Amino acid sequence: MAGFTGGCLCGRVRYECSAEPQMVVHCYCVDCRKSSGTGHGTHLMVPAEALQVRGEVSVYDRDADSGNTVRRVFCPVCGSPLYSTNSSMPGLAFPRASNLDDPDSVTPEMAVYTSRAPRWDAIDPELPAVPGMPDLPG
Ligand SMILES: [Zn+2]
Ligand SMILES: [Zn+2]
Repeated sequence: MAGFTGGCLCGRVRYECSAEPQMVVHCYCVDCRKSSGTGHGTHLMVPAEALQVRGEVSVYDRDADSGNTVRRVFCPVCGSPLYSTNSSMPGLAFPRASNLDDPDSVTPEMAVYTSRAPRWDAIDPELPAVPGMPDLPG
């Protein structure tokens, strides 16, 4: 079966995605670190229309370095980060790997913003590492 499911810690927000992730990326930027609970966020890239979310969510919009607005969607009760969107990539959504029902179903392919990684969050030496933001398709 294609796709994947996930949800927040308390279970009030659930999602289903009917598509496989087009990309899986660790991001070590400050915003991902601060919203993650550890040194980085791990994001899946999927077509936005493939993602079906059930339950009430909160959003936080913030301008990124690039000048684009990143919207972070999270559970208003337990605070789990769920997914984000980026104003420069309107057809895409970026669910967090942290909330997958089966986190081992995905394999990270790249690390970005590695110049901002804290010392204590080692970057996988097997992965291509980009010091800043790469040009993403889409
Ligand atoms: Zn929750
Ligand atoms: Zn980031």
